Amino acid sequence: MSETNPFINAQQEIKRAVSRLGLHPAVYEILKQPLKVLTVVIPVEMDDGTIRVFTGYRVQHNSAPGPVKGGIRFHPDVTLEEVKALAMWMTFKCAVVGLPYGGSKGGVVCNPRELSPGELERLSRGYVRAIAEIVGAEKDIPAPDVYTNPQIMAWMMDEFSRYKGHNEFGFITGKPLSVGGSAGRNEATARGCAIVVREAARMLGIPLDGATVAVQGYGNAGSIVARLLHEMGCRIIAVVDSTGGAYNAAGMNPVKLREHKARTGSVRGFPGSRPISSAELLTMECDILVPAALENQINASVAGQVKAKIVAEAANGPTTPEGDRILNQKGVFVIPDILASAGGVTVSYFEWVQNNMGYYWTGEEVNRRLEEIMVRGFHEVVAMRRLGRDVDMRLAAYMVAVKKVAEAMEVRGWLG
Ligand code: GLU
Repeated sequence: MSETNPFINAQQEIKRAVSRLGLHPAVYEILKQPLKVLTVVIPVEMDDGTIRVFTGYRVQHNSAPGPVKGGIRFHPDVTLEEVKALAMWMTFKCAVVGLPYGGSKGGVVCNPRELSPGELERLSRGYVRAIAEIVGAEKDIPAPDVYTNPQIMAWMMDEFSRYKGHNEFGFITGKPLSVGGSAGRNEATARGCAIVVREAARMLGIPLDGATVAVQGYGNAGSIVARLLHEMGCRIIAVVDSTGGAYNAAGMNPVKLREHKARTGSVRGFPGSRPISSAELLTMECDILVPAALENQINASVAGQVKAKIVAEAANGPTTPEGDRILNQKGVFVIPDILASAGGVTVSYFEWVQNNMGYYWTGEEVNRRLEEIMVRGFHEVVAMRRLGRDVDMRLAAYMVAVKKVAEAMEVRGWLG
């Protein structure tokens, strides 16, 4: 089976955890597939008057711990297999940090860069109409993911509110502040990642002051992780986005890099830097490597050449199982995706709680609660890892998560 099918990879991760925990085999039989899969067809009127038909998905993996939760990806390479994997990962991401949610995910096969704002809005609204029956604040709560943003969340919330006949702020998270968004949501994925990097570095005795960092992906997660790690004293020596990269051994200012990208469309050509490819970045000499782009970046051959001491997975599924095995053999400390990227959904949870209460917290309050949850999650995983030499950080994270979901299924009577 192909090493790059993320669904098969996600299944393997669950299987390892179920068998290491010695759980009832029915646990794996339930968790190896999503509870519900919806494929939708979305006709959209383009600006030139023609109709283009898009395909979208919404996958709900497991609702035992609570309503399901997960973002919506707009990307030309979205496949059902990918969305199924992403939905599964959400179940365990929520569980590892103790959020009262199951996992879900959505995707639309499209290239947002080729759509006008009006086309993007009509596509976003069309997608929500198509999935409206199976989502909602008490059922399935979407959020942003790759190439979707607060504006898209606002259109989707508006469309769902029209469908319901009243405002439904709690239907979706990652909204702009003016329509029920939460302080701190935008940087939450990155902040959660920076917190666990800090904890890992402390535990391993790696001083963050002067630590060298390479970041793959310069979107919402990557660019803000770079900024936060820079604020903690790290040196950002290399970054790449989907169109190019920048390297400077003396370190680069992540805020200026972001401005450069906003101006030119890429981090490439940043003053004082030399170009660097994604493949070079992943295998370069550095202390901390942050994959913050797409799946399957660190496969067996890349993993063999990784030189970082810590790999903090801000993206979903950036390392293949074979790649992971090699990183562990080499003694690289991996902070797995379900933990390292859990900050986003954690503040999404806070957003939903605030929507349900109709009372809003300050940014300090949000960040304090995020800090508490991430630190606790990290140490729970580290404690699980002490169970045996065969337990690496990813297996430990899955063991923490699968145990919680299995308990929820057990008490609900799903296991007989
Ligand atoms: N798309 C983000 C993730 O993969 C956030 C999901 C959410 O906030 O629900 O974790």
